Amino acid sequence: MSAAADKAALHARGVAALAAGLRAREFSAVELARALLARIDAHAALNAFVARDEEATLAQARAADARLARGDTAALLGVPIAHKDVFVTRAWPTSAGSRMLRGYLSPFDATVVERLGAEGQGAGCVSLGKLNCDEFAMGSGNESSCFGPVRNPWDRTRVPGGSSGGSAAAVAGRLLPAATGTDTGGSIRQPASFCGVTGIKPTYGVCSRHGIVAYASSFDQAGVMARSAEDCALLLSAMGGFDARDSTSAERPAQDYAAALRTARAGASAARPLAGLRIGLPREFFPAQLADAVQQPVRAALAELQRLGATLVDVSLPRTELCIPVYYVLTPAEASSNLSRFDGVRYGHRAAQFEDLTDMYCKSRAEGFGPEVKRRIMIGTYVLSHGYYDAYYLQAQKLRRMVADDFQACFGTCDVIAGPVAPAVAGRLGEQGDDPVKAYLADIFTLPASLAGLPAMSVPAGFSRVDGSAELPVGLQLVGNYFHEGTLLHAAHALQQATDWHARVPQGY
Ligand code: GLN
Repeated sequence: MSAAADKAALHARGVAALAAGLRAREFSAVELARALLARIDAHAALNAFVARDEEATLAQARAADARLARGDTAALLGVPIAHKDVFVTRAWPTSAGSRMLRGYLSPFDATVVERLGAEGQGAGCVSLGKLNCDEFAMGSGNESSCFGPVRNPWDRTRVPGGSSGGSAAAVAGRLLPAATGTDTGGSIRQPASFCGVTGIKPTYGVCSRHGIVAYASSFDQAGVMARSAEDCALLLSAMGGFDARDSTSAERPAQDYAAALRTARAGASAARPLAGLRIGLPREFFPAQLADAVQQPVRAALAELQRLGATLVDVSLPRTELCIPVYYVLTPAEASSNLSRFDGVRYGHRAAQFEDLTDMYCKSRAEGFGPEVKRRIMIGTYVLSHGYYDAYYLQAQKLRRMVADDFQACFGTCDVIAGPVAPAVAGRLGEQGDDPVKAYLADIFTLPASLAGLPAMSVPAGFSRVDGSAELPVGLQLVGNYFHEGTLLHAAHALQQATDWHARVPQGY
């Protein structure tokens, strides 16, 4: 292949392959960034990007090239990424998908952005811009963004999932090799599943929340989406680790998750790399009515994991169904408090006309927030109010603890928990209509790990057709015990060495 043809296919390479090519000087970070920016423009119909600034990107690429020329060995030098639009950035506006914040320019970078970046001690990634998401990360379809919906590259009439829909669509459409996301109740795992990419949300506290626009602070966690577990491991290693600027940051040093992939399990062999791994299947994650379109690929992936040496054991998470009301009491409560800062005074939108101060608050908030955000602010204010606090908020907090305890009981007999990510494949744009409860119910399999603060990932597990649709991806969810991200990534990597579901590309990309 000629050098020119080789460069034309840069978008086909993942993080590890690009980092190797950059280090070998096959192409420069500037060339790579230019190639992908052109690709982003060519696929603007996906609506994955909401902010793009060629000069800002090229400045970072030049910084990465200079570091490469100096022989700097940072693992991700020159690798292009982009951030979900809830991470604040100096170089691009941060809108969190909301009219309220539209165009807001932060005076600082989020810790995750800084750690991944090309400047200073950063890992060397070059950011291509900001990625579309649901308004304030509330949603499951990326349809509540003020920038309009994102489209799923596997079928552009369908949603990419949410709230990190732009991140998932951009990775699936090969616009970039990896992207950041955040997961409060499934917003990395569910879009990863719907778009056929690999996504991981680490244990609560592994990635700093400093500089992430808050939705529900005791749940929000940053993570990453890429094409493979190996690529996720490389990014997550650079993102995580203690940050004194986040009071809930776990006091643990950054981990080398890529090393975990290379470390063989005791008793494992090349043919059975997962020997000794006990995978628990909660019976509540496989209800009789679970759609075949989801059940079959998930079962096929589990059979593959078994072939690789893992054993499957029966476990129970008896409060799975309760996770929905618990989550939809607690997260609105936290959101109602977090979003009170958007008052038209300090940040974002201010109404043009008002009578007095109270009227200014009311009009600014009424105009700035979309319907789903308003709904959650109202629910949150209600469940925290005098007289209802004990009945709703306090009860939900108690149940949250019980769900975490249920997981610990499971981890007595298994190392990893597996099941579907979502009860269905990606739905059609607009299908959800104005029935928010329908969307909330579909979060059933991702919420338990979120309530417990456990690490969880979505791994491509195959494809299904529904109602004559194109092939649509289906993800397998893996949940680990606290700080066992390495175990999840190791199992996903073994699966990806033996299968090609994660490597398939949607037609036209
Ligand atoms: N669908 C969930 C919600 O709407 C998850 C969102 C998230 O994880 N940010 O709250």
